[in-house]
Amino acid sequence: MKVVLQNLTKKFPARGKHVKDEVVAVNDFSFEIPNGKLVGLLGPSGCGKSTALNLLCGLLKPTSGRIYFGEDDVTDLPAENRGVGMVFQNYALYPHLTVMQNIVFPLENLKGKDKLSKEEMQKKAYQVAKLVQIDELMERKPGELSGGQQQRVAIARALVKMPRILLMDEPLSNLDARLRLQTREEIRRIQRETGITTVFVTHDQEEAMSISDVIVVMKAGVVQQTGRPQEVYDDPANLFVAKFLGTPPINVFQGKIREGRLCIGQDVLWKVKGIADQEVYVGIRPEGFVPDEEGTLCCRLHGVEVMGRDISLVSSHEAAQESQVRAIINAESKVDVAAEFVRFSLKPGKVFVFGRDTEERIYYELDQ
Ligand code: ATP
Repeated sequence: MKVVLQNLTKKFPARGKHVKDEVVAVNDFSFEIPNGKLVGLLGPSGCGKSTALNLLCGLLKPTSGRIYFGEDDVTDLPAENRGVGMVFQNYALYPHLTVMQNIVFPLENLKGKDKLSKEEMQKKAYQVAKLVQIDELMERKPGELSGGQQQRVAIARALVKMPRILLMDEPLSNLDARLRLQTREEIRRIQRETGITTVFVTHDQEEAMSISDVIVVMKAGVVQQTGRPQEVYDDPANLFVAKFLGTPPINVFQGKIREGRLCIGQDVLWKVKGIADQEVYVGIRPEGFVPDEEGTLCCRLHGVEVMGRDISLVSSHEAAQESQVRAIINAESKVDVAAEFVRFSLKPGKVFVFGRDTEERIYYELDQ
């Protein structure tokens, strides 16, 4: 089912003597979630992700804007009539009920023509339990399950009514690193198998990038960029998005354009066309550096970390925002690790320029 958010805004009133301004938790959010896709809603704490999700499921009413599920305007529809499945960070299972009882719980309140017999409910519960691979644990109580298994029960419970859309709010946060990886792959598989349009909220960029068809990056209630994860990574619209995506993060330098030359400190990277003289930020992805004795960017070398296939070169530059400049280079590259300085040539597709005031991307062409 396609989901459309149209100019969605949610304001919370100011509370307390010292708080004058209302909070605009979601600000003019417009987006179309394609049918059957998994969308990752991504941003730092407080950017409005949970508020957006609560607007979608009907726990909150928007201050303005509309929400459509397919052709239906559901903006004024109560949560229980929207056909939404929710999965939360803390699982929210009933501890005194068995796995089976937890999963059938949403079916027990169905009325009229939707009412199911006990056998029908159990059959449906087994179907979803099989899908999430917990069908052998049906008689256990949540306290007798691992965190990953509990989250699967929560997913099964959200799926048992075959919701029109599935909403997941930081579903992996309570799991340890290994289980997180495994469970996120599971979520991807389940979402593909069921084809249910899913919105997945996380502050973890790697998690969102790895499982989403589309990501939505938010900051302070405002959508910064939407697109396929790789597209957004390769073509960030502003400095915030460039910094938010990628591990290790992008290296940011104070730079300038002078007479058609892109410069970082004394180093002239290359000639560019179409940008007036100005102060800029230059962002260089870690994989954009190539050690090269003739290279244009000169950094002070501090160390080398070998990470299997790749090497991480740790250096510094007086114009860099952070104390360390991190370059990921191929293990076969020849670098004199004892040298005081290292020179890099740069891959143009990995070097982005942003306005110093607006932090918006400035597109440029190389002047060969
Ligand atoms: P986190 O990742 O920390 O959960 P989030 O991105 O989900 O954060 P939200 O919970 O949507 O962020 O909150 C967005 C903003 O709205 C925050 O500034 C928050 O303080 C504010 N906010 C959320 N709920 C309320 C409320 N009921 N009353 C007032 N302000 C609220």
